[in-house]
Amino acid sequence: MREVLWERLKRTDIERAARAGAVAIIPVASLEQHADHLPVNTDSNIVSTVARRAAQAVEFPVLVLPTVWTGYSPHHMRHPGSVTLTYHTFVEVLTQVAKSVHRHGFRKILLLNGHGGNTAVVAGMRTKLAEEDGVASVVGCDYWDAPGVPDAMRRLCPVDRGFVGHAGEFETSVQMHLQPDLVDAGKAAWAPGAFGDPSAGSADKGTALVEAAVAGVVRLLQSFHSGELEDRFVWRKESPVV
Ligand SMILES: [Zn+2]
Repeated sequence: MREVLWERLKRTDIERAARAGAVAIIPVASLEQHADHLPVNTDSNIVSTVARRAAQAVEFPVLVLPTVWTGYSPHHMRHPGSVTLTYHTFVEVLTQVAKSVHRHGFRKILLLNGHGGNTAVVAGMRTKLAEEDGVASVVGCDYWDAPGVPDAMRRLCPVDRGFVGHAGEFETSVQMHLQPDLVDAGKAAWAPGAFGDPSAGSADKGTALVEAAVAGVVRLLQSFHSGELEDRFVWRKESPVV
């Protein structure tokens, strides 16, 4: 299988990928409490897996950076195990990682987010990087918002009504599929710090949800690589006002 993980490549491989117009994915996650039944690496595990599988599924070159393992989680700090950055530090980390990737010649950079607390920050990074840092190559997206994923979630997570939640039906199902040895199924019930119903989770739902998320990110990568995605930002193509 084609190697897609940035950290495992040589500098010459990375240079070649940049020259070939590869898309670079920077997965962005968190390290935080996920109630009493899921591990604190839940968000990192899901977004890393989805990014890697999507990168391997397309026919054009895509590289996946190591996942940004901590994010913006001040609202989880009342529970043990959470590690957060402050707001401005998080923005700065994303800025510096994206600028580094851009410096090496990558002109299509996807910030693929896997944590709800990061959503607003990641969504704002395109404008911030383009206008303040001269890096006009970045789009940000939650993996659960990729094409087709919201529909799959509404179908597969009826108890939580299709919401991603937190340690609820969606994440419990996905973790029962991806990391069953780390799930304490006997404690899969609502507890403070959960949003949604953990008891509605199942490994079968998790399998289908991961497939839907990978398919959605594949569609996102295809439209980014073809230029269709950026064509929607037509104002970027306007000539500057003199
Ligand atoms: Zn989570």
